[in-house]
Amino acid sequence: MELIYEKSRNGRTGVDFPLLDTPLQETLSEKYLRKEKASLPEVSELDVVRHYTVLSKLNFSVDTHYYPLGSCTMKYNPKATEKVAGLESFNIHPMIPQLPSGENFTQGALEVLYKSEKLLEEITGMDSMCSQPMAGAHGELVGIMLVAAYHKAKGNKKKTVIVPDSSHGTNPASAAMAGYEIITIPSLPNGEMDFDLFKEALNNEVAAVMMTCPNTLGIFETRIKEIADLAHSFDTLMYYDGANLNAIMGKVRPGDLGFDVVHINVHKTFGTPHGGGGPGAGPVGVKKKLIPYLPVPLIGKHTDGTFFLDYNHPESIGKTAPFYGQFGVLIKAYAYILLLGKEGLIDATEKAVLNANYLMKKLKAHYDLPYDRTCMHECVFSAKNQLQHKVHALDIAKYLIDQGIHPPTVYFPLIVKEAIMIEPTETESKETLDWFIDIMIGAAEKAKTNPEVLLNAPFTAPISRPNETKAAREINVNYFFKK
Ligand SMILES: *Cc1c(COP(=O)(O)O)cnc(C)c1O
Repeated sequence: MELIYEKSRNGRTGVDFPLLDTPLQETLSEKYLRKEKASLPEVSELDVVRHYTVLSKLNFSVDTHYYPLGSCTMKYNPKATEKVAGLESFNIHPMIPQLPSGENFTQGALEVLYKSEKLLEEITGMDSMCSQPMAGAHGELVGIMLVAAYHKAKGNKKKTVIVPDSSHGTNPASAAMAGYEIITIPSLPNGEMDFDLFKEALNNEVAAVMMTCPNTLGIFETRIKEIADLAHSFDTLMYYDGANLNAIMGKVRPGDLGFDVVHINVHKTFGTPHGGGGPGAGPVGVKKKLIPYLPVPLIGKHTDGTFFLDYNHPESIGKTAPFYGQFGVLIKAYAYILLLGKEGLIDATEKAVLNANYLMKKLKAHYDLPYDRTCMHECVFSAKNQLQHKVHALDIAKYLIDQGIHPPTVYFPLIVKEAIMIEPTETESKETLDWFIDIMIGAAEKAKTNPEVLLNAPFTAPISRPNETKAAREINVNYFFKK
């Protein structure tokens, strides 16, 4: 295809695609052309507007409701970053032709990716970063594939990956997908991984230790340095699940704690509206010894300051995402980091931790607190005390919907019976936290005096409480709507 430089019809200077301007009849073979017009359903504009407006009002979102969903960091997402991601100059087709002389049409995009990777390296204390992975779990898989490539190149015979029993389910799943057997280490009564059992389990066959720090109980692993040093003595690599980076950014760097590979859930820490599985991005950062195996293309920088897609890494594990991953999400993360600046990120971390400790102190007289110690950005209660009134964590979660609050994470982490995992986030006001605390205290009171209000909740939501088994087996949206 020949590139034609000229003012296109909308007046912008750009590239024309002659093929796209040719009528279809001239480019498609006769046998693919319709003989008659397609019969498409006809609806009035008003019907369409009503349909989508009703659908949009069924949403529970950070913009409409308080959303203290533990582990997922549903913080407020500044609209400024949305605006940046929506700039017309970033609205580039991923297959925009690359000139033999370089990537002249995508210099700005490559520069954003390059600079955001540099910032993430600084925040995590890693030597190199790759933004290809398209979610946290995808980052885990890529990270463990890097671990595998490292051991293979060194001729190490490694078969297993160690995870603590507080770990997110995606950790063992990613390691298993990369071909490893999983060894699970129990947690101590103080919420940290049992160091002695870890020491016993560690041997020359362990490829990596996957840790979240602070862990999913919201507790900082105080022996993390010792764990990393011991692991390294067996050439076992340390993997950092960065989902909880919101608790430490600007304060502590995983790289300084001894981690060799990290993934960051930029959609959690750096403000992108997410939920229901996306959209997200899971950039992976590594220490020097793992750089040769990073996915290609990486973003390179020429000495003249221009950027290029760098495929020249013969030991790379290959391509792990189409094009360059979730570009829109990565722009938002970059804009967010620049918007807050270093002081702003530190401030966010401090407030996230302060808010979680405030909630924890205020609620612990009303709910069982299995790990009663200073928490980081989230705290985990148990509805154990409410069980005597036949009220479960799920009932409290459903009751919160009636109060206009998105339920916290329940039944995770798995090691806490009837878990209620609350992550307030730094973006909520003290008034909102106090309002939420009152409602949670009210729920604990109602469990004693009027459990029906909890057991049959939600009453106000447009959908009633589904029979979970039936809902999983019969996928029919109408089943949920109140008649
Ligand atoms: C969210 C989360 C993940 C998975 O990240 P996704 O972006 O949802 O794929 C992994 N570990 C922890 C601790 C998490 O909270």
